Amino acid sequence: MSVNDTLLERAKLTIPGGVNSPVRAFGSVGGTPRFYVSGQGATLTDATGRDYVDLVAGWGPALLGHAHPDVIDAVHRAVSRGLSFGASGPGEAELAELIRDRSVGVERVRLVSTGTEATMTAIRLARAATGRDLIVKFAGHYHGHSDGLLAQAGSGLATFALPGSAGVPADIAALTLVLPYNDPAALEAAFAAHPGRIAAVITEAAAANMGVVPPAPGFTTALRELTRREGALLISDEVLTGFRSGPRGYGGVLVDAGEDATADLVTFGKVIGGGLPVAAVGGRADVLDLLAPTGPVYQAGTLSGNPVAVAAGIATLHLADAEVYRRLAAAAEALAEAVAVALTAAGVPHRIQWAGTLFSVFWGPEVAAGVADYATAQRQDTAAYAAFFHAMLDAGVALPPSAFEAWFLTAAHDAAALDRIRAALPAAAAAAAAAASGA
Ligand SMILES: *Cc1c(COP(=O)(O)O)cnc(C)c1O
Repeated sequence: MSVNDTLLERAKLTIPGGVNSPVRAFGSVGGTPRFYVSGQGATLTDATGRDYVDLVAGWGPALLGHAHPDVIDAVHRAVSRGLSFGASGPGEAELAELIRDRSVGVERVRLVSTGTEATMTAIRLARAATGRDLIVKFAGHYHGHSDGLLAQAGSGLATFALPGSAGVPADIAALTLVLPYNDPAALEAAFAAHPGRIAAVITEAAAANMGVVPPAPGFTTALRELTRREGALLISDEVLTGFRSGPRGYGGVLVDAGEDATADLVTFGKVIGGGLPVAAVGGRADVLDLLAPTGPVYQAGTLSGNPVAVAAGIATLHLADAEVYRRLAAAAEALAEAVAVALTAAGVPHRIQWAGTLFSVFWGPEVAAGVADYATAQRQDTAAYAAFFHAMLDAGVALPPSAFEAWFLTAAHDAAALDRIRAALPAAAAAAAAAASGA
């Protein structure tokens, strides 16, 4: 039994399943999750002292690589001044300005601690602004774990093949309409079926929790036009894509592609905390000003704008310059190319899809022609991925423990890290071929 097994057994005695977030349990790939004790650049070290090239990057925040010296230094300096005051500090406005200045359509920002809080607050704001109750979300999009947003939600729910969650009252679930993604006609029909009742449409700026599924050309513009026409707000969830899929998030990618991508509300998380708990809801000043204390919508947080977390966020966004995104894009392209070559050589049908610098791999013949919605994403060959995942892990490459997640690189993934991944690919591709359903 390895130290990882021992740690899991111990954790299981107090923590449900031994984990504090379900995907960490390796449910869909099997085997024992690794317990990590440190991270440096592109590398993680587990409790046995073994190194892995990390392709999870904390699910996104480690844009610069783990333990970037300038981020660690900013955190050290903040920590030495005290941890939490329950009052405002000077860094909060600076972080809010950094988010505003690099985003599309963001005039005001409220800082919270998790992406779940950010989307929950965005929904409450949209309901208050419109006086309506219904919310539209798209199947396979993940917006955190608040009651109203868990239906057909991708991420861990895709991994565990759950349609939603127990414990969500039917009356609350009934306020969320789940529509197929990339289907403007379905949205048009929903507006027609519920005239004057839809408060908001929430969408991932590019879906990245069912694998990466970017909006089809014109879909974002159609969302904007339909919501505007029908008096509903558009909420763009950039918790994952923000400042990762590109310097201005996926909103910037869409604007550059000529889309009308200015949402009323935009949510952020992951990268903006650089690895500490910071998330945000931003958007139109008139809507954000509905928040207490300026308006009637209540929202609060003991740790909101925490000075240590804010220091990590400011340092990360300051360091995330054009060179960082250039390196991230170059590493992603090199890795995707190597994966495609290895899988093709081994005869594994697959499809690689992109959202800016972010990509994921879909597995099996059912998805090889491309994935535009959740129904198609769910037809992928998860057994092939599980075999690939474990072969890579055995060779010292830590991929996301689910086929439905994006592959996360950092600006610290250098030639040595990529070489180590490349060396592991042929055997992993062969393992995937051997495990492929029907093989
Ligand atoms: C991760 C994520 C969330 C939830 O953020 P947490 O900080 O885990 O609560 C919301 N939306 C999207 C798109 C995400 O990827």
